[in-house]
Amino acid sequence: MTEIVRTRDLTKRYGRVAALDGLDLTVTAGQVHGFLGPNGAGKSTTIRILLGLARRTAGEAVVFGGDPWRDASALHRRIAYVPGDVSVWPNLTGAEAIDFLSRLRGAGRRDERYRAAKDRLCEVFQFDPRKKGRTYSKGNRQKVALIAAFAVPADLYIFDEPTSGLDPLMELVFRSELQRVRGAGATVLLSSHILPEVEQVCDHVSIIRAGRIVETGTLAELRHLTRTSVSFTAGAGSPPSIPGAHDLESDGGRVRFSLDSDRVTEALPELARLGVEGLRIEPPSLEDLFLRHYGDDVSAGREHS
Ligand code: ADP
Repeated sequence: MTEIVRTRDLTKRYGRVAALDGLDLTVTAGQVHGFLGPNGAGKSTTIRILLGLARRTAGEAVVFGGDPWRDASALHRRIAYVPGDVSVWPNLTGAEAIDFLSRLRGAGRRDERYRAAKDRLCEVFQFDPRKKGRTYSKGNRQKVALIAAFAVPADLYIFDEPTSGLDPLMELVFRSELQRVRGAGATVLLSSHILPEVEQVCDHVSIIRAGRIVETGTLAELRHLTRTSVSFTAGAGSPPSIPGAHDLESDGGRVRFSLDSDRVTEALPELARLGVEGLRIEPPSLEDLFLRHYGDDVSAGREHS
């Protein structure tokens, strides 16, 4: 499989802070690769090094077989990048900003395919491109960068927390555009701290903590990490037996336990038979996952400092 991104023992120091501490990340062609970790884990620093916007302190970073620091301008023609917090030019309209960003990646002035793609994207993202940049909200500024990214085909799309300013409807549009570029054979690296988002759109996941990758694999391989939390109101008596339940506890009339996510449907008939009330089924959060696997380390760790 062709490696699109590879880092080995990648290290980045800012003074005494080790933002990256020996990071090994591999993204192969055609993957939609989720890059998951809490704030401060090192996601943006990694992405900035992959884009040649920051220089590594030590270790290796390779993108399309090249060195992102040395070969930045050649690589940028193949990469579409959307940062988490997009700045736009206050005096340019949305359309001018999209055109400008797209031209940097090769869209021509009279490029009909580009214009059609831009018009379609403005429509699906419900974006009014006629307003000046200074009037745009965070979500609209993100749309400028997303539309520019999706309007010109790329081999690699890098998104750094791309949906933080989008409403749920626009998140769906974002996902459907991801499916489209994936169908066209592109590779995607998507950083996020929201596990359900990554579960919905990604086929591979790498989890970063304190500047290192702590888990990597396909979603199926990582499924053993992702348990679903279930709780319901119960009457007095000993807690019921639920197939596949972990950490079952009963507290103040409420029964709580976790289930392997692929066994939820199996447990539902048993819950129905018990006639439970106030049933809550919650997908696992990234935080639960970290707390379960890394214990006190995480809350004491640098991510929350
Ligand atoms: P994430 O994207 O996962 O939230 P970052 O890569 O932004 O994490 O940050 C990783 C660590 O590096 C944090 O401790 C952050 O404070 C530090 N850091 C990032 N950029 C800089 C910088 N320019 N100067 C100093 N410290 C930085």
